[in-house]
Amino acid sequence: MIGAGVGAALLPSIARGQTPPAKGSVGFAIVGLGKLSLGQLVPGFRNCKKAYLAALVSGSEEKANRVAAEQKLPSRAIYNYADFDRIVADPGIEVVYIVLPNFMHAEYTIRALKAGKHVLCEKPMATTIEDGQRMIAAAKAANRHLMIAYRCHYEPMNLVGMRLLRSGKLGKPRIVVTDMGRQSDLSDPSDAWRLDMKKSGGGALTDMGVYGVNGARYLLNEEPTEVQAWSRTDRNDPRFKEVEDLYAWQFRFPSGAIANGSTSFSYAGTMSWHVMCENGKMTADPGCFYGGNRLTVTGNGVETPQITEIDQFAREMDWMADVVRGRAPMVSTAEEGVQDMRLMEAIMESAAKGGATVATNFGFRRPVDPAAVVDVPAA
Ligand code: NAD
Repeated sequence: MIGAGVGAALLPSIARGQTPPAKGSVGFAIVGLGKLSLGQLVPGFRNCKKAYLAALVSGSEEKANRVAAEQKLPSRAIYNYADFDRIVADPGIEVVYIVLPNFMHAEYTIRALKAGKHVLCEKPMATTIEDGQRMIAAAKAANRHLMIAYRCHYEPMNLVGMRLLRSGKLGKPRIVVTDMGRQSDLSDPSDAWRLDMKKSGGGALTDMGVYGVNGARYLLNEEPTEVQAWSRTDRNDPRFKEVEDLYAWQFRFPSGAIANGSTSFSYAGTMSWHVMCENGKMTADPGCFYGGNRLTVTGNGVETPQITEIDQFAREMDWMADVVRGRAPMVSTAEEGVQDMRLMEAIMESAAKGGATVATNFGFRRPVDPAAVVDVPAA
């Protein structure tokens, strides 16, 4: 997985266990012990100040027992998918973090909300817009928070980039370019479901392309009004029996800015973005890795800022804890998740029509700009 190699070097290993949670911190149950959970999230709790790992939900008893022992969790904190709903009886679990394949997000989010828990759900929010809307309705009915895990909203380099654009020092942004993709591997179970249309909702586009769709929007802090897109897929490649491989798209924004994006499951790993402004430019390459992101700024006498690297997953989980405690506003809202799903559906529709223009003014406006509220650690 892109970023894993870079991030792994920067994050501690899983073996040391957690320190006892600070008073008032928020207990999380992690649902799904796959690559992201084991590689980043479970270890990430060690870097959290306000969130702690309270429970595990897994279909594998052996894996759950091993991780629980490493994290010094009691056996009563282990759940499986069948008895998951008994989390209702554990007041120590305040947030359920859904880290399952995309097609399972809606079911487990709704079950957690019905159990009275707040939910942090991985991107993409769901595999259909209808499921995304059902998740929002369930959160409203339960009067609980539902946040989508858009980690770049909490990552210092992306925040610095957003702030620099908002400052106007480089002039108006004219062109944004986002390229987010990697080589997929059908023999890896973690990729097998990503190459299944029903389970992923859209292959590379919903897995990696979503970072570019979301990224163009947070960089420009506006919403696109139309899109044109194209796809290219080699149907002789066994990976692409169902999903499309490469998409390229162009979003047009009310300010006059244009965002060109691409995604693929058959090109070399990249998560980069570039912004060309009237008087300068910014390159973030890598721009959305787990660690090691690099920003270069040129033009108008603006120097490339020094940025302090942090564990962005820990930061995101701490932010969710603050939202639950009423100490921070919700930034990556569920409505934002649906907006990206609508935009990705528009990309698929345009590509299916050979690049026809598809209107994308869905009436969504981001209530909170991450650049305005999420602080950046001092360099
Ligand atoms: P993964 O395949 O490695 O893990 C998924 C887990 O779900 C596995 O433990 C698997 O055993 C379990 N599972 C339960 N039922 C399953 C079923 N029917 N089919 C397949 N697996 C099943 O995936 P991952 O890479 O950990 O991704 C999980 C989620 O996290 C996805 O939604 C993905 O988009 C998201 N993700 C986000 C980031 C990020 O940077 N925010 C990075 C990676 C993944």
